[in-house]
This record gives sequence, structure tokens and C-alpha cells, in this order.
Amino acid sequence: MFQSNYSLASLNSFGIKAFAKLYVEVRTISELSKVWQSPQYRTAKNVLVLGGGSNLLFTQDFDGLVIHNLIKGTSTKAENDETTLVTASAGENWHHFVMYCVQKQLGGIENLSLIPGTVGAAPVQNIGAYGVEIKDVMVSLEAFDFQTGKIVTIQKEECAFGYRDSIFKRFAKGQYFITAVTFRLQNVGYHKLNVSYGAIAQVLQEMQVVNPTIADISQAVIHIRSVKLPDPKVIGNAGSFFKNPEVLQEKCDEMLKVYPKMPFYDSPIASHKKLAAGWLIEQCGWKGKNLGNAAVHNLQALVLTNPGNATGKEIKELAIAIQQSVWKKFGVTLETEVNIL
Ligand SMILES: Cc1cc2nc3c(=O)[nH]c(=O)nc-3n(C[C@H](O)[C@H](O)[C@H](O)COP(=O)(O)OP(=O)(O)OC[C@H]3O[C@@H](n4cnc5c(N)ncnc54)[C@H](O)[C@@H]3O)c2cc1C
Repeated sequence: MFQSNYSLASLNSFGIKAFAKLYVEVRTISELSKVWQSPQYRTAKNVLVLGGGSNLLFTQDFDGLVIHNLIKGTSTKAENDETTLVTASAGENWHHFVMYCVQKQLGGIENLSLIPGTVGAAPVQNIGAYGVEIKDVMVSLEAFDFQTGKIVTIQKEECAFGYRDSIFKRFAKGQYFITAVTFRLQNVGYHKLNVSYGAIAQVLQEMQVVNPTIADISQAVIHIRSVKLPDPKVIGNAGSFFKNPEVLQEKCDEMLKVYPKMPFYDSPIASHKKLAAGWLIEQCGWKGKNLGNAAVHNLQALVLTNPGNATGKEIKELAIAIQQSVWKKFGVTLETEVNIL
């Protein structure tokens, strides 16, 4: 059951060569409960719940116990004419789950197609893309509480979801193993498609789609993402390395005087504007550049990559160098989106 000195290289999308002192896979809640009761868990210095490893950067070996979540299963429950509740176990692959819902013509998460990782990690950073965030459709989640060894239900309202943020990244960090997530999706005919964001409308036009379906939106998103983002199977990466920074409206206005073409967006905080981290990094000359064995992607400066032999430390050093450049040039702080371990 428990394995020592276990290689995590194929279990993180950066492809970083790191080892876990102890590693265990769980396929059921009862297995998870047994792990929790074990001496290995009780004596572990650190514990990491691992999903798809697509939002992690290992800068050293993991000195503790890695619990790999492989709990599978999906179920649906019709609510009324308009909506259906769908519950997915946390170890389900997120994109496969989206495809399952698209096939059933259930709308709400089609804009989140092709995001790597597991269902269970999705609430951790409130995954989002193309104008939709998981908080828009999530109802509640089930989690194993490491403090009590019991399963609890946590409602969406209790998760304090924000931009790539939730309680699971803050005060509840490390407390829960999310085991299942329930979503309220719209039945076909009742779902309002979201085509306003990014290049979706343009791609639909290129696809000659006049009256798009849920499946068409999903296909358009898959197409855009496949062109724009490097496939981690080909080149190691964890998607956007930094969050888009939110700055005061006055700061944004000041920057626009110097850089009139600077992209910016509305922020959920009325007094703030959101800037495009990728644009700021590009202006500092980092796009397509290397530092040691770590690189900045040549099409999307927000994505740091491991072209082959980079260590986690090298990627972290590159990230720090980028943060320093952006601070020096713009006086803006870039916060990392990826979990650095
Ligand atoms: C090419 C690429 C594109 C991406 N695009 C996007 C995007 O558009 N939008 C976006 O939001 N993200 C994006 N990401 C980031 C990533 O896909 C998401 O953050 C995803 O939710 C991570 O899932 P995971 O299972 O791989 O989590 P992991 O990397 O395994 O874990 C991430 C964190 O969540 C915790 N965690 C994982 N599972 C659980 C669980 N069951 N219970 C409690 N804690 C858990 C881990 O301990 C860790 O702290 C992208 C990544 C890549 C590689």
C-alpha cells in the first residue's frame, strides 16, 4: 500500500524529477480512512493531497506522505425541467467530466473544457476560463476532514471563492481531502451560452456555426486552448504561472498614460482593474526567453515551461526574476497561481 522514495516525475505536469518520502493511492473513502488511521499518516512530517499534479511545482523532494486521489464515479439527478444535479468523485479527470456533461447536453461547464487536473482540485483555486468559474455552477462538496476523520458537506457559500482563490488555499489549507463535488447544470433549452469571452465568437464563425450548441462552445474552447497553450505531455508546464494582478483604478489610469495600449479588464472589486500578467511579462522582454534550463513559452508569456531538464528550483528562480522585472518596470506585484512546494 505505502511506497517509499516514490518518483513523482510522471505525476506532475511540469515533469519535475522529485521523490515522495512516502506515497499511497486511494480509490475509496474507506481506503482514505484507513490511511488516516495508519502510523504512516500519524508520523508523516507533511501530507500532500495529489490530483493531476497540474498546478504544482516541486522545488525539492517531498519530505512526507503524498496521498494520490484516484476516487472515481459520477452520478446525475434531475431536479426539474430546467436543471440537473451532477456529482463527480474527486479523482475524476476534469476534462473527461466536462465531456460527460456536454454529451448529456448539460450546460454550464463547457467553457472550462480541456483544463487539466481532477474534479477534486477544481474548487481549490476556483478554476476558471473563458468567462466561467467553477463557483458559478458548484452547489456543494464533500470532504474528508483530516482533523476528525469524518466526511463533511461544505456549501459553495462557505468556500469564500474568489479569483483563483478559496478557503482551501487559505485557512483551510491542508485540512480537507475533497472527495466529491456537486454541480447544478442547466438542461438543454434552458442554458444561456457564454460566447462573449476571448475568441469564442470568432472561432464559432470560422467553424461556420450560426446557432451554437453546448458541444460547439466546448469544441471552440478546445480549439483555442490547443493552439494557445503548450500540451504538458509535450512540454512540461502548469498553465498560467501567475495570477492576473488587480490594481487600484488610479494605478491603472497612471499606467495607461505611459502604455495606452495596455490591456485591462473589470475586476469584481469595483475600485480595482485587472491587468494581463502575460502582457506585463512580455513588455519586460521575457517571452520565449530562458534562464538556465527553465523557459518562458514563446506564444504565451504567462506560461513557464520545463523544456526538458529544468529543476523545480530553476523554474522558481525564473519566476522570481520575472516578478522582479515586472515590479521594477511597472511597480506591480505578480502573485503565483501555481502551488510551489
Ligand atoms: C496547460 C494547463 C492549462 C491550465 N489552464 C487552466 C485554466 O484555464 N484555468 C485554471 O483555473 N487552471 C488552469 N490550469 C491549472 C490546473 O489545471 C488547475 O489548477 C487544476 O484544478 C489542478 O488540478 P490537479 O488535480 O492537477 O491539482 P494538483 O496540481 O494535483 O493540486 C493542486 C492543489 O490542490 C490540492 N488538491 C488537489 N486535489 C485535492 C483534493 N481532492 N482535496 C483537497 N485538495 C486537493 C493539492 O494539494 C494542491 O495544493 C492549467 C494547467 C495546465 C497544465
